[in-house]
Amino acid sequence: TTSKVKEENTGKAEQLQNKVVFNVVFVTSEAGPYSKAGGLADVCGSLPIALAVRGHRVMVISPRYLNGVSNSEYATVSDTGIRTKVSCFGQQEVGFFHEYRAGVDWVFVDHPSFHRPGNPYGDGNGAFGDNQFRFTLLSHAACEAPLVLPLKGYTYGQSCLFIANDWHAGLIPLLLAAKYRPHGVYKDARSILVIHNLAHQGVEPATTYHNLGLPPEWYSAVEWVFPEWARTHALDKGETVNILKGAIVTVDRIVTVSEGYAWEITTSEGGCGLHELLSSRKSVLNGISNGIDVDDWDPTSDKHIPFHYSVDDFTGKAKCKAALQKELGLPIWSKCPVIGFIGRLDYQKGIDLIMTGIPELLQDDIQFIMLGTGDRQTEDWMRSMESNFKEKFRGWVGFNVPISHRITAACDILLMPSRFEPCGLNQLYAMRYGAVPVVHRTGGLRDTVENFNPHANEGRGLGTGWAFSPLTKESMLRALRLAITTFRDHKALWEGLMKRGMSRDYTWEKAASKYEQIFQWALIDPP
Ligand code: ADP
Repeated sequence: TTSKVKEENTGKAEQLQNKVVFNVVFVTSEAGPYSKAGGLADVCGSLPIALAVRGHRVMVISPRYLNGVSNSEYATVSDTGIRTKVSCFGQQEVGFFHEYRAGVDWVFVDHPSFHRPGNPYGDGNGAFGDNQFRFTLLSHAACEAPLVLPLKGYTYGQSCLFIANDWHAGLIPLLLAAKYRPHGVYKDARSILVIHNLAHQGVEPATTYHNLGLPPEWYSAVEWVFPEWARTHALDKGETVNILKGAIVTVDRIVTVSEGYAWEITTSEGGCGLHELLSSRKSVLNGISNGIDVDDWDPTSDKHIPFHYSVDDFTGKAKCKAALQKELGLPIWSKCPVIGFIGRLDYQKGIDLIMTGIPELLQDDIQFIMLGTGDRQTEDWMRSMESNFKEKFRGWVGFNVPISHRITAACDILLMPSRFEPCGLNQLYAMRYGAVPVVHRTGGLRDTVENFNPHANEGRGLGTGWAFSPLTKESMLRALRLAITTFRDHKALWEGLMKRGMSRDYTWEKAASKYEQIFQWALIDPP
């Protein structure tokens, strides 16, 4: 009987899948190629397109950031001429810009607070002080957009499925529940919270609550009291509003960007203070690993790299390596393993391990290339390493997409000693480019990098990289040394590692179909 019921259910699910076309509204603080600070941009630039390909109507709403550098990212986007007033922080007015591209409606919220130098969240002096204001505005505007915007003559209307990404869009489920539904609006709408990084929650003093545009009786939904040890002075009662917490308690379903991370956030070590709450919502919590943009990241055609190559012929990779060594003024040593790091210079990324471990590793014949921005001290450290290890170390301070592609293509090994990693994209790019990842075994890194076993597969080896644990300098160096030895002395095993990594399926299709399943579940369970 069980299998019969299962069969019937599968049949029903398939029928539903064939019938239901969702009006999906992504709300996000970053969407590539328009704006980017990290992996959130990659996801919100690709997943919507993959869902549109599957027949859904998809809108992505993000701010129209004008940072004064080039603003060319928004060159093809035009003003809809529609402006709307939103009730938060008193009353504010926003405009909407739009572009229809790759089957998706890209909508941009326009407001002076998004026009300033820096990245979406801050500048050289740190995070902007008014981010709660900026993203409250985004969330309110995003709730209005499906109701007020005729996009190529079509208005999305009330039967939407909102995908709120991280805390910046966390007010969406709260607004649906507290502001719209009591007036009979968005009765059939559903919302899904996608957690890309739990470390950022949108926490501000409790006194800011009245600015959020929520009715007073909803305060407890976002109320968050810090434990005593985290308070700054004796009078501090630790009372704050926590937007992500509010989203977790009100949203229909929660997704994180890998299965490993979905579990980790329910543990006291990985839950950033919210593990109990997240555990209480386990029945609606799922992990779906990100795909990557396989056209943008394709070693056979990448426009940013000087030579192309494929899983059948690595000659172009060796040429990319020599070209980057030349570009960076490093000696062109083909037999010397080049190890790379790309990412935010942040405690999360295990920069401290790099700073203590890499000088030791550089005693050996290796080259290390780093690309990143963030922590000033680390940037200074990178500069000093360059002068201490002229033939072996290069540190590129900045956010530079073409260079990130060239490093990925040139590297033999990519290092990611992340303290925690919700999904991680660079290890995926690396594997696709035949750069073997050495990663801390955590979150999405654990899910996506299969630890190398040289004895399996009749001595031909299995796995796609090294996943080390615990997070110590010693265990990182042990893994790196194993990788280096394999690279130098076991060519066939190394090529096996590269080939398995390069042949994996990285497309968004698999993830998109899993998201579709979550949409179905959100629809079946009424709010
Ligand atoms: P996170 O979102 O935590 O920053 P991910 O690995 O998920 O980490 O995604 C980071 C994305 O940002 C990747 O696409 C990576 O290549 C890119 N990136 C990070 N730092 C830089 C940089 N300095 N220059 C160019 N791209 C970068």
